[in-house]
Amino acid sequence: MSKKPFVTKEQIETIARTYPTPFHIYDEQGIRQNAENLKKAFSWNKGYKEYFAVKATPNPFLINILREYGCGCDCSSLTELMLAKAVGAVGEDIMFSSNDTPVEEFKYCNDLGGIINLDDITHIEAVEKACGRLPEKMSCRYNPGGVIKMSNGIMDNPGDAKYGMTKKQIFKAFELMKEKGVKEFGIHSFLCSNTVTNEYYPMLARLLFELARELKKKLDVHITFINLSGGIGIPYKPDEKTNDIFAIGEGVHKAYDEILVPAGMDDVSIFTELGRYMLAPYGGLVTKVINEKHTYKEYIGVDACAVNLMRPAMYGAYHHITVLGKENEPCDCIYDVTGSLCENNDKFAIDRKLPEIQIGDYIFIHDTGAHGFSMGYNYNGKLKSAELLLKTDGSVKLIRRAETPKDYFSTFDCFDFYDKLISE
Ligand SMILES: *Cc1c(COP(=O)(O)O)cnc(C)c1O
Repeated sequence: MSKKPFVTKEQIETIARTYPTPFHIYDEQGIRQNAENLKKAFSWNKGYKEYFAVKATPNPFLINILREYGCGCDCSSLTELMLAKAVGAVGEDIMFSSNDTPVEEFKYCNDLGGIINLDDITHIEAVEKACGRLPEKMSCRYNPGGVIKMSNGIMDNPGDAKYGMTKKQIFKAFELMKEKGVKEFGIHSFLCSNTVTNEYYPMLARLLFELARELKKKLDVHITFINLSGGIGIPYKPDEKTNDIFAIGEGVHKAYDEILVPAGMDDVSIFTELGRYMLAPYGGLVTKVINEKHTYKEYIGVDACAVNLMRPAMYGAYHHITVLGKENEPCDCIYDVTGSLCENNDKFAIDRKLPEIQIGDYIFIHDTGAHGFSMGYNYNGKLKSAELLLKTDGSVKLIRRAETPKDYFSTFDCFDFYDKLISE
């Protein structure tokens, strides 16, 4: 399958006159269609709710679009909780799935009425101290350990992950929480990241449903939700297959009917905390070619760098690249596409076959709508880019301005650093 950008060269030329590159641009139409489909795929479950993983794309304008489809916010830090509050997602619209949590953040979440999802058994005491008493509705994160393998070879290693409680701990935790007044219980688990298979959620659902049945039987606790968390992936590579969200929803439905319904647990709500699946394909990083270099390899230098998109540098992740306006030209050149950081891993692509590139060409880096802008940093004094929304009517809205040098120097404000710099 070929990957097509959701914008054309002509559109980008027009947009770049107002908003200089680099920038991330998001496709409202795609976001809406996808959110609608997810909702449909789980509509068999009365209490179904997606808590968008805010860390993936912490932009209030985008989160507000998802809110129209009933999404809440999955947060894991103080500022993410504040962002949820800012868009009006409070009370049970907040899922606080944090780890290594500072106690003040438990209190802040509880004050907002959010649901606390405990990463560790020792946090029971921390929440009790911070909030005075345990909230009546709470959740625990489960880590089954070992290695998870699926038929397409995708594998992850929960036994090596810092998250969640062991089976023994989760039984102990539920017992303790029940003693301390918790009335509604949830279970959460996140085993594999970026899965491109319809098997992952149904497999995870089975595992959690069986655990829930056992917890209910042994401890007589009322489990009211099961949170399948994130992990549904997207095809970053053109030869990968897109997940079928309807097949995934049906797979979870089948497990629900086989395990929970016969156990008298047909009031359990299914929650998800998707990030990547909600937004990654509907964002792209647009950058302009500003240099070429011919040494031992052929280099194309662009005006974006790893600060704008860290995944290739950090994980060697593949992001597909389209040279706008050259969609139909043969890919008969081999390039490294680089940013300007003083770091040799600052490359968006290595030995990538692309059409012949000229200075001034616009490059569209695909699938940056989640874990893209948000992972940004300021190394080499580089500034974070703007974020734009391509609206359904074709117009463009600035949803976050680009950083300026003043922003970069603002944390020195007690020294009037920036004011002196520009007045001299
Ligand atoms: C990162 C994260 C998610 C979202 O993961 P995706 O891979 O983007 O779906 C959900 N829940 C928790 C607790 C996370 O840390």
